[in-house]
Amino acid sequence: MTEKLFADRFEAFDRNYPEIMERIAQAAERSGRRPEDITMLAATKTVPVEVINYAISKGLTCLGENRVQEFLDKYDRLDKSGCDLQFIGQLQTNKVKYLVGKVNCIQSVDSVKLAGEISRLCVRDGLTMDVLVEVNIGREENKGGVNPEHLVEFIEQIRVLPGIHVNGLMAIPPICGDKKILCRYFSAMKQYYVDIQGKSMDNVDMVCLSMGMSSDFSEAIECGATMVRVGSSLFGARL
Ligand SMILES: *Cc1c(COP(=O)(O)O)cnc(C)c1O
Repeated sequence: MTEKLFADRFEAFDRNYPEIMERIAQAAERSGRRPEDITMLAATKTVPVEVINYAISKGLTCLGENRVQEFLDKYDRLDKSGCDLQFIGQLQTNKVKYLVGKVNCIQSVDSVKLAGEISRLCVRDGLTMDVLVEVNIGREENKGGVNPEHLVEFIEQIRVLPGIHVNGLMAIPPICGDKKILCRYFSAMKQYYVDIQGKSMDNVDMVCLSMGMSSDFSEAIECGATMVRVGSSLFGARL
């Protein structure tokens, strides 16, 4: 029974994966970059571990989960050797302990308290965690992320913490059908990214600009994304 279920999902992945990589390559070229300059992170929330492992066997190397419990449920059964596992969801400070030593990057850092806890646990364990600062680019209430006007001040506060390394920025712009407006958000992110890089702050390297999902990754790349996070168009609609 389950075999049939997975067969459909394997097939969907086989269809979707090359097509997405092709669209990423085309968008990279339109923005004057090489396809390999863009990282495709597979957003695997709700995707069964069997399907994720199949995708890994087909060449997927960068994965992101956004719920701690789901990440832990899958972790032991994941064929993760050689994979870059990242955390992309909102994160409560008291759950950082479940991620340290298991993920390479936390993309959703938006408070000094959260960064402090990542730092504390990484120092304890002799590790360094890459973090992206999540920017609330649409200044939406009830959404994670640092407001743009506080971004530099925030990075100044967390970059001095031991055990973490600021590796870039992440954003989820407001849901919007108008690609022009979306591009304005993406371009604003790119500008912050470039401005911060220009400040040459110690322990801050703007090497990852994570933005763009299934519906808008081409636009995000054209505006400067170096990483896109793709879920449903890779694995099929979430059930
Ligand atoms: C689910 C998710 C994605 C992928 O969304 P799709 O629209 O399914 O591609 C990207 N980023 C984050 C933070 C997510 O939670």
